[in-house]
Amino acid sequence: MAKTKQQGGPIWMDGQFVDFDKAVIHPLSSSVQYGMGVFEGIRSYATKKGTAIFRLDDHVQRLFDSAHAVGIVMPYTRAIVKKAIIDTVKKSKVESTYIRPMVYLGHEYLGLHAQNLSTHLLIATWDMGKYLGPSAGIRVCTSSYSRIHPSSVLTKAKVCGHYVNSILAYHEARQSGYDEAIMLDSQGRVAETSSSSIFMVKKGVVYTPTDVSILLSITRDTVLHICRDLKLEVVVKDLTRDEFYTADEMFLTGTAAEIKSIAEYDAHQIGKGGSGPTTTAIRQVFDKIVSGASTKYAKWLTKV
Ligand code: PMP
Repeated sequence: MAKTKQQGGPIWMDGQFVDFDKAVIHPLSSSVQYGMGVFEGIRSYATKKGTAIFRLDDHVQRLFDSAHAVGIVMPYTRAIVKKAIIDTVKKSKVESTYIRPMVYLGHEYLGLHAQNLSTHLLIATWDMGKYLGPSAGIRVCTSSYSRIHPSSVLTKAKVCGHYVNSILAYHEARQSGYDEAIMLDSQGRVAETSSSSIFMVKKGVVYTPTDVSILLSITRDTVLHICRDLKLEVVVKDLTRDEFYTADEMFLTGTAAEIKSIAEYDAHQIGKGGSGPTTTAIRQVFDKIVSGASTKYAKWLTKV
């Protein structure tokens, strides 16, 4: 069996730091058995003023919202969660890292009645580096799996079990030789990728799908702020895959992936097949913001 290679620092588990290799959750936890848990994905960055966590308040808010949506009572206050995240990053001794808080349930009962179970929090760091490779231009394909639908699950909540849908799509894309999957909603409209939001640029206008069946992405919101600052026209509407095929530029956005240009979609070259000028301009501002070089968005960085 493959041994886990340590890629992160000590893990905060209910107030105690546990060595990366010694951290455990009981196998009968409802989160392990059924995916009933909620989580976040956050990044810290190296800035001139030291390590800083990007949009910590917004990620913590989404963690609380996800828990509330599925009826999990958060075991700690926002202040404790924030401090625990900061302490975990400090302890990792890595400046630019990926942070994974997860709220999980106990193993007091094995059945589906998960309402009276104990609730727990862990916070891990993971030296992820660049997710999905370099920013220059990845290849994506339409998934045969539809994105989770709001009438089946709570699509705005970042629930562990939802990610089986993402993993199936991602594996399928990789096995077909692509870097990432574009997932359509059950009506055939473009929704998002397995773990990021999707944008396109056509004749200088930036388009992104509505947020009905996608995660309320914090990077998507950041990009919308950047577009406004760059005086770019933005249209949020239902979009079909052929609208993307004929786009001048296409890119995906997420905490892990950051801003990644898409060179090819379903064997259609997008624009000139690299990183287009609008995407490049947006990425430059994004890089400035996360590295602390933007005074306007200094409020989005929490010093560690
Ligand atoms: N969609 C999905 C399904 C995701 O898992 C993520 C990653 N959290 C995103 C979009 C991007 O969200 P964010 O920008 O908040 O990381």
